Amino acid sequence: MSDTVAPEKIEFQAEVKQILNLVINSLYSNKEICIREVVSNASDAIDKARIESLTNIEVLGDDHNFKIKIDLDKDKNQIIISDNGIGMSKEEVVSNIGTIARSGTQNFLKELSGDQKKDTTLIGQFGVGFYSTFMIADKVEIKTKRLGSDEPATKWESQGDGSYTLEETDKESRGTDIILHLKEEDKDFCDDWKIRSIIKKYSSFMPHPIVMDKETEVDKKKVVEEEVLNDKPPIWLRQKTDIKKEEYQDFFKHLSMETEDALAYAHNHVEGTLEYKSLFYIPSKAPYDLYHPEKTNGLSLYVKRIFIMNDCKELLPNYLRFVKGVVDSEDLPLNISREILQQNNILTKIQKASTKKILNMLKSMATKKPDDYKKFWKEFGNVIKEGFHMNWENLDELKQLVRFQSSTGSSEDDIRSLADYVKDMKKDQKEIYYITGENRQAVDNSPHLEVFKSKEIEVLYMVDPIDEWILQGMGDFDGKQLKSVTKGDLDLGELSKEEKAAQKEGKSKFKKLSKFISDSFPNMLKEVRVTTRLKDSPCCLVADEADMGANMERILKMTNQAVQKSKRILEINPEHPILQNMQARYDKDAKDPKLQEWTGLLIDQALLAEGSEIENPVEFIKKINGLLQEVSAK
Ligand code: ADP
Repeated sequence: MSDTVAPEKIEFQAEVKQILNLVINSLYSNKEICIREVVSNASDAIDKARIESLTNIEVLGDDHNFKIKIDLDKDKNQIIISDNGIGMSKEEVVSNIGTIARSGTQNFLKELSGDQKKDTTLIGQFGVGFYSTFMIADKVEIKTKRLGSDEPATKWESQGDGSYTLEETDKESRGTDIILHLKEEDKDFCDDWKIRSIIKKYSSFMPHPIVMDKETEVDKKKVVEEEVLNDKPPIWLRQKTDIKKEEYQDFFKHLSMETEDALAYAHNHVEGTLEYKSLFYIPSKAPYDLYHPEKTNGLSLYVKRIFIMNDCKELLPNYLRFVKGVVDSEDLPLNISREILQQNNILTKIQKASTKKILNMLKSMATKKPDDYKKFWKEFGNVIKEGFHMNWENLDELKQLVRFQSSTGSSEDDIRSLADYVKDMKKDQKEIYYITGENRQAVDNSPHLEVFKSKEIEVLYMVDPIDEWILQGMGDFDGKQLKSVTKGDLDLGELSKEEKAAQKEGKSKFKKLSKFISDSFPNMLKEVRVTTRLKDSPCCLVADEADMGANMERILKMTNQAVQKSKRILEINPEHPILQNMQARYDKDAKDPKLQEWTGLLIDQALLAEGSEIENPVEFIKKINGLLQEVSAK
């Protein structure tokens, strides 16, 4: 048949061409990974065959021993990797190998940095794995036959240029053979020892046997036997005491396709009403797709050592999606489907316990290895913060884990826990103070902090957009309320006795001017009052306790949401010469037109200082220039 019908020639999809081009022309730093990719595809294909056979064991015929076999043909410079997995129909070959259906391809291509090492890791993470064979092969053949199908086997062939050919072939058994025709300069991949060491390095954790022929002598006769290269049981089934640190880290690298060690791991054999093994890892680097909407967690689900699925989202809440690892349950049924998973009681219990376990792991990292925790927080802090909206049960744990920058630190790397804050509170301090804003620099220079800085009261800096949301779910910490320094009336209690006295005095002194200002800007101001907040600045704007606040308004505006601007409170500094002069001027002539102009300038200044936009920048500049002209003429 195959010699009567001419092979069909088909063009690759544009994205595939792009990826092939990249693989062939710019990735050559770590060629070995292509063997790992092909072996891992073979292993996936076996998992799929096993899952199909659960409902109909007949499809396996008499071949029940799943395995992946590697043959080396030194004369022809070929590596043949075969599996007896699910195989592919002709149509599946076209759609699986000829195109990349995944929506994330464009994203992936954008992520590529040009840095060899990073890009090779990305290729593995993204799973354009098969194409990596063209790093070492100038021609690749696939012979494949779909399990349970009468359709003849298909042969696919390509030289990695723009197209591939398809034709029928006479393979009888199910599964897939991948034949790599090695490039001249990569002939050394045909070496027995080299392939064995690659398998050891990358694939020793594969759940299915990977075999190679080995010649031995029995009774002086040469016999060929299949040798299993990965004969250890899966790491999570072994006793903790028998496992070396390096083995745990190697398994992490295998799972995550990362090159760096995990920051922490936890291995557990849980027994009791539920029985399962779990192995969790906290990576040291965030994956490139951490914030892609389709990203789920990195836990694989096994049932009685049999692989069920990767990225099982029922195993952990979404805010722990950075965790990698394995859960192997003794209690779930083997033929569990995605639909059943969603409302499965056992999984819910495993999820609860696993969440606790991971939060504890992080807590212990924070106390025992603070430098590691800093690294962790930098990579994953914002994801943990998402938990404040999803995980009420563990709110207390999350409050222990959360970190913020603060007025006591000198850079973004100085982070503080709420417990640190409470421990260092002033004797008479009752609340935990925070300020929200666009970035460290913006809040650091805010007039709202003046009195806090002068009294050395710490203020937490909440400068990630998500902080506004977590505040809503935060409640108190250790009986102390969190209080915004830009909202409501400031009452530092015992800490501000002197200011209180000055405020009282100022209140009567500035009564008329205050009324004048609030009457002049009725649409913008709901109140003008004398403040205890300020030391150097003439005035600042604050929000009412229940109002949204300027930062939240800014964030909502950024996300194109309609925002109803709330009226603000202008607080004036009774000690400031500008205000004192204005008051004197008012007392002399309440109708002085300069007063209105200057008040407008003061409000605009206050808006700029808090990071808000001013309504009319041109007008603002005109007024400033007018003032400069007057002053410079003197
Ligand atoms: P990924 O494995 O991440 O999907 P690949 O490019 O490595 O990406 O493989 C593309 C697809 O080709 C796989 O998803 C699978 O459907 C199919 N495939 C690859 N190798 C095999 C194989 N040995 N048996 C069956 N299908 C395979």
